[in-house]
Amino acid sequence: MNITETLFDFCRLNGPSGFEDAVSARCETLLKEFSSDIRRDTLGNVIASIPCGKAHAKKLLIDAHIDELGLIVSSISDGFLRFELIGGIDPRILPGRELTILNGENLFGVISCLPPHLLSPDQMEKTIAVKDMYIDTGLSGEEAKKRIPIGTVAVYRDEPEKLKNNFLCGKAMDDRSCFAAILRALELLKGKTLDADLFIMASVQEEVFMRGAGPAAFDIAPDYSIVVDVSNAKTPDSKEQVTLELGKGPSLSIGPNTDRRFTRFIEEQGRKKDIPIQFTVHTRNSGTNAYPIQVSRGGVISAVVELPSAYLHMPVEVVKLEDIENTARLIAAAAEAMGGIQ
Ligand SMILES: [Zn+2]
Repeated sequence: MNITETLFDFCRLNGPSGFEDAVSARCETLLKEFSSDIRRDTLGNVIASIPCGKAHAKKLLIDAHIDELGLIVSSISDGFLRFELIGGIDPRILPGRELTILNGENLFGVISCLPPHLLSPDQMEKTIAVKDMYIDTGLSGEEAKKRIPIGTVAVYRDEPEKLKNNFLCGKAMDDRSCFAAILRALELLKGKTLDADLFIMASVQEEVFMRGAGPAAFDIAPDYSIVVDVSNAKTPDSKEQVTLELGKGPSLSIGPNTDRRFTRFIEEQGRKKDIPIQFTVHTRNSGTNAYPIQVSRGGVISAVVELPSAYLHMPVEVVKLEDIENTARLIAAAAEAMGGIQ
């Protein structure tokens, strides 16, 4: 599998939270190589099961979310679209932004903005409120009303790109880079004898308070879960408490949202294979699907494997190819060793 190509194809798909159909469908296709039992649940989560064939095997759920941030059209005035946000978008980045409007014809749109000539020095210092921005499609009022029903969603338009030195850049790297890592892990595990039943999940609605994974975890009832998600990596302008570094491997999350012994077990498997590992501390919930999964049913022993990413929730999220490969290796090492867990 070519990780970059798979990931870029995946990032080009559009699927804001609650509207993930196209991405779910691609996941089903991609997972066919590894599982003959794939289903899409009521909310749209795609779940592939890979049984190990052994009696009383433990169930290991491996999850990455496939939804992305988006905008949703709330009203139309004179052909210009008013909108609300789906997920944690920073409004400061929106003026002048290019969008794909998912009205069935992938319309091109731009977000309105006032040029510097028309702004007072005071206004230039201020963030423009979402309620004061519009999406411009070029359509007249009549045409827009006909072609863009209220509730139509839109996403950042940007095409994924390679930066130098294997840095990969684009929208929806959160969290499709982690789903690509899971696919790569499955490739590494192909033909190996396992001691746990694997459940691979491409979950929906994570960006809107982690809503998709919980019901699916309730249904699967796993013994263990590994949630794979991106986490903030250091940049020259980031805060001091950001410690993750791009290119230094996946990170294991430590805190009340993850099981210490299971996390150590994963670390040990990684050490045996010389996989570089970093650590992140989360004092509450990890801000990932590990929260709803951990507290599902009678509780699930959970770990979070994080992929370092810069510029999270921007249209230019950056990850590093080697980190995806090492994340895949770590997941595969843990899955392969599950028979030895105490
Ligand atoms: Zn995420």
